[in-house]
Amino acid sequence: MIGIGPDELAPRCSRAGCDAEATMSVNWRNPKIHSVDRVKVWLACDEHSEYLREYLDARDFPVIVTPFGVSVEAVP
Ligand SMILES: [Zn+2]
Repeated sequence: MIGIGPDELAPRCSRAGCDAEATMSVNWRNPKIHSVDRVKVWLACDEHSEYLREYLDARDFPVIVTPFGVSVEAVP
C-alpha cells in the first residue's frame, strides 16, 4: 500500500456502510433550522453522491454537489 498518512485521515463516503474514498462534497442545509449562510457537508464517493443529493432533494433541502475539496459559501 502506498499512502501519505494514516488511513483514518483519508476522506470516506458518508453513506452508511460505504467505505469508499470520497470524491465529491454534498453541500446542503435544512432551511427550517439553518440560516442561508450555513453549509453542511457530506462527503461521497462517485457511486453515492447522486444518492445523497436525491435524499436531500426529496426533503426539499437545497443541495449543491461539488468535487471533493471544493467548498461553497452558501446553498441558496
Ligand atoms: Zn459511497
